[in-house]
Amino acid sequence: MIKKYESLFINGEWVTPHGTGFTTVYNPATEDAIADVCNADGEDVNRAFAAAKEAFKTWSTTTSQERHDWIMKLYHALEARKEEMAQAISESMGCPISKSRIIQVNCVVAFKKFAERAKMMDVQTQVNNSVVIREPAGVCAFITPWNYPLYQLIGKVAPALAAGCTMVIKESSMTPLQGLIFAEVVQEIGLPKGVFNLLTGKGSVLGDLMVTHPDADVISFTGSTSTGARIQELAAKTVKRVCLELGGKSPFIITEDAPLEKAVTFGVEDVMINSGQTCICLSRMLVPASKYEEAVAIAKRVAEGLKIGDPTDASTYMGPMSSKAQRDTVVKYIQKGLEEGAKLVTGGVELPYGITKGAYVQPTIFRDVDNKMVIAQEEIFGPVIVMIPYDTLEEALAIANDSPYGLSSGVWAGTVDAAVAIARKIRTGGCYINGGDFNYDAPLGGYKQSGNGREWGDFGIHEFYEIKSLQLPA
Ligand code: NAP
Repeated sequence: MIKKYESLFINGEWVTPHGTGFTTVYNPATEDAIADVCNADGEDVNRAFAAAKEAFKTWSTTTSQERHDWIMKLYHALEARKEEMAQAISESMGCPISKSRIIQVNCVVAFKKFAERAKMMDVQTQVNNSVVIREPAGVCAFITPWNYPLYQLIGKVAPALAAGCTMVIKESSMTPLQGLIFAEVVQEIGLPKGVFNLLTGKGSVLGDLMVTHPDADVISFTGSTSTGARIQELAAKTVKRVCLELGGKSPFIITEDAPLEKAVTFGVEDVMINSGQTCICLSRMLVPASKYEEAVAIAKRVAEGLKIGDPTDASTYMGPMSSKAQRDTVVKYIQKGLEEGAKLVTGGVELPYGITKGAYVQPTIFRDVDNKMVIAQEEIFGPVIVMIPYDTLEEALAIANDSPYGLSSGVWAGTVDAAVAIARKIRTGGCYINGGDFNYDAPLGGYKQSGNGREWGDFGIHEFYEIKSLQLPA
């Protein structure tokens, strides 16, 4: 018997949905069904927004210290459920458990930072006869994807709570389980009712209703560029604030004087972790022509050395894709690359050696790739790297910037200063310098078709407040 989730979390309570039917959640490694989760409908969307609207009246007037204390309570209670969430994510989207415990759930720590950032709402500035103050932006609608489901949730919920906003959330129907645990925690700590409301069900049904809802003041969406563009269009009719965190096809420039072994290893591992389903992964590797053969050989060795397989095995580096549908998409791109004339260094369309079922794709590396090819222009969202040779740094920069996306990038050069100088010429919202690490205190977001939002760090809270000018008598 698979587990059945029959309630939605609205107004501080688990309630029976008005919507009918269930969406089944599958384990992509075993292909087994693991849970049936109830579907919300339009009536449920209305109930959730009504609760969030009512709750906003009081939550928006809490002091920053009160919100700090609530967020810290949430932080401590979530810490206690981290292992459960790591397991739920691993089971529903295939991230190996040893990685899930780090890359999927360590983001809980960000609550501590956002508890502190509640104080940012008290900032006021005097400008001549005016005082400029910050007020919470209102009721938020959050829609999030499946690749880092808890991370996407926290990147929105934590700053929104800190700012004094209330919210209605819908996570991807492929990975709703950690969100349900999150809602249990919200209930357990007794967060004022209606501040946090969680719906489950399909984006194709609930998405339009949420983003056009008259009581939604802010839409924050993370997902594909095509869905994001559609949301922006729909929300424009009521001039809602729309924050979009979208796709990427990030370039990684390795310079002539970079330590090649280190840089290529970093690049390959960066893409293969989470099976290439990381929006900021450096999927276009740009290598000086003089070092190309050597770099290709290193990339092949590193990719072939990664352990692929059972996500429950602590030594697994890469599990399956998050679903069979995602495997099909990635396989189509690999076939497309071959049709376009790119050559396989390693990987391909077959299941990895020794694996007979599950949504697995081999770590795949293409060489002789032209940046105009589809596999270099479109986001594959799988364990696929395209290696592109370049002759001059100017050419490398032109290739890096020749993309509809502008989410992330990487540079590995002989010195940090030299890499930073190159990074400043790349049109992306972030750049990883000489193997630099992800930082929850730094903003993340895209240029161009990668979106318009900035999450995390101090900038993460900016999306959730309005600015008001009080013109005082002279
Ligand atoms: P997606 O298909 O756009 O789905 C994202 C979310 O939108 C899911 O919750 C989905 O629900 C929902 N949705 C589906 N149709 C909708 C509609 N018509 N209206 C409103 N919402 C709708 O994207 P995905 O394939 O899940 O996620 C992968 C994409 O996310 C990649 O492009 C990746 O680069 C991007 N991403 C970006 C960032 C960033 O920070 N920039 C971070 C992570 C991922 P259902 O799942 O129930 O259909």
